[in-house]
Amino acid sequence: MSKPATQVPILMFHSISDAGGPTSIAPDTFKSMMSKLAESDYEVVSLEDVAAWHRGDRELPEKAMAITFDDGFVDFKDHAHPVLEAFNFPSTLFVPTRKTGEIEDWYGGHNDQRPLLDWPALQTLDQTLADIAPHGRNHVALSTLEGDALTEEIAGSKSDLETELSKTSTHFAPPYGQVSPSALEQIARHYDLSVGVEHGIATRSSNLYDLPRIEMFYYQDLARWQDFLDGKGGLYLKLRQALRTIRGFVNPVAYS
Ligand SMILES: [Zn+2]
Repeated sequence: MSKPATQVPILMFHSISDAGGPTSIAPDTFKSMMSKLAESDYEVVSLEDVAAWHRGDRELPEKAMAITFDDGFVDFKDHAHPVLEAFNFPSTLFVPTRKTGEIEDWYGGHNDQRPLLDWPALQTLDQTLADIAPHGRNHVALSTLEGDALTEEIAGSKSDLETELSKTSTHFAPPYGQVSPSALEQIARHYDLSVGVEHGIATRSSNLYDLPRIEMFYYQDLARWQDFLDGKGGLYLKLRQALRTIRGFVNPVAYS
């Protein structure tokens, strides 16, 4: 029997398209990434598994990994979902629940605004290995909100998924990963787990309501991705963490 997991990388993707920019990964690259993952020793688990592992309710295999997508772009259905299903990989898709069927018209969005999945498409996807989860309602930075406006985004997006997909969401991702103490407190009250945008690998010591993720934009070089899968990516990860921290001081909202 293999050793239990002490850490779990949670991959963060946005758009799978040829749109370019920091939130797009080309479909062919994504396919190769997933193919290498399938050939590796890693086992893909759900965020539900990660939450139970973090609480100490269950162990995970030493090489466990979770896959997440932010924003709910239409290209998830076209270019990511068929690949995920072919490999039998569970994933979580975080959607801003009052933007469904519209475009990414939020701060930091792509210049050529990409379309977002509508409720009928999300309903179909939610019946598969993909888990649809809330990303707030309007894709605003929660750190800028207080009181009822904050509750609308955190609890309101959960209730939108209850209405539209008849499901009780247990996972959350705040837009831009930006939270205040009051936002974190509310997230912890309404959800079992929440993921942020700090570049790193989640451990049982990580804040369960602000878990770090692996920014997959850095791993479009497939040799680097292979190194990560082989456990040789440590130095590169630390370098990216340092650079991201520096850039964070310059532009705190670098990503959506
Ligand atoms: Zn987002």
